[in-house]
Amino acid sequence: MIEFQNVSKQYGDGFKAVDSLDLEIKRGEFIALIGPSGCGKTTTLKMVNRLIEPTTGTILINGKNAESYEISRLRWNIGYVLQQIALFPHMSVEENIEVVPEMKRMEKRKVKQRTHELMEQVGLDPAVFAKRKPSELSGGQQQRVGVVRALAADPEILLMDEPFSALDPLAREKLQDDLLRLKGTFGKTTMFVTHDMNEALKLADRICLMREGKVVQTGTPDELRRNPAGAFVREFIGREQGSMHALLDLRQWVSAAPAAVPQTQAVVPAEVQADRLVSAMADHEWVAVEDGGTLIGLIDRATAFRLLAANGRGIGHHE
Ligand code: ADP
Ligand code: MG
Repeated sequence: MIEFQNVSKQYGDGFKAVDSLDLEIKRGEFIALIGPSGCGKTTTLKMVNRLIEPTTGTILINGKNAESYEISRLRWNIGYVLQQIALFPHMSVEENIEVVPEMKRMEKRKVKQRTHELMEQVGLDPAVFAKRKPSELSGGQQQRVGVVRALAADPEILLMDEPFSALDPLAREKLQDDLLRLKGTFGKTTMFVTHDMNEALKLADRICLMREGKVVQTGTPDELRRNPAGAFVREFIGREQGSMHALLDLRQWVSAAPAAVPQTQAVVPAEVQADRLVSAMADHEWVAVEDGGTLIGLIDRATAFRLLAANGRGIGHHE
């Protein structure tokens, strides 16, 4: 559906914001782009709807070079949600949402129906909110309108650039849940930029971790957790603070390898989720640790607690 082929973007000052990007996003897939500030996420996104043109390389959309589309048609087919959604202040919520469908000359009655359906799906009762002005909405409600507006014209592609990062944690979580539901209903091909690993892990089918314009690793949330390609990825995953799903590496913490492990004893993998280690330690004074089928040592309860504490997660912070 969207394919980056060796795409680079060099800004006027010579700085390479995106460097030889290869990435394919399948139809209906939800991919999260994540990475430190300035690593090229926004630039990557804006090259899809051609707010920015690549310096070199090709972006294919539906198998066709993005350059060959007429730009307004391309954009009608791509919903775009930003961190600070810019609604037209003098227009009602409903009017704001219907701008693109009207440009596309979609049937008025159908547009109205879809607008109201979508509003309901993100928890904005149309009877209450349709006629309100943007200034009468909270930040979270405005972002909801932004999401609805992006979906209103039924685009094939959805681009979201840190859409929830300006919201308080509660509003953010609600919108994430709404988006998960919408994802189940509509299955839009989505590129979602975030700097929040929890958000990426929660929402995305696949995560693409970037650094200095390059892809460090792309994979499912599970693949990134299980096989982080190096310290940078591990550190990023580690920001899943306070989560009992945090992945711990036991290799540095084991003591002498056991000659044999009684069948009744617990064995855990060298990379283990915090909750699994905690529940194993609840029943056993020590557990054996295996790495690639080989027992590499033991962890006793005291060491396990030190490890959990050192990682600053797990203890006393259940989901
Ligand atoms: P991110 O969204 O990951 O924070 P951006 O794609 O916005 O990163 O920016 C990537 C890099 O390109 C940053 O170092 C930024 O300063 C630089 N950059 C972005 N836009 C421009 C521009 N118009 N001119 C020059 N440099 C830019
Ligand atoms: Mg950005």
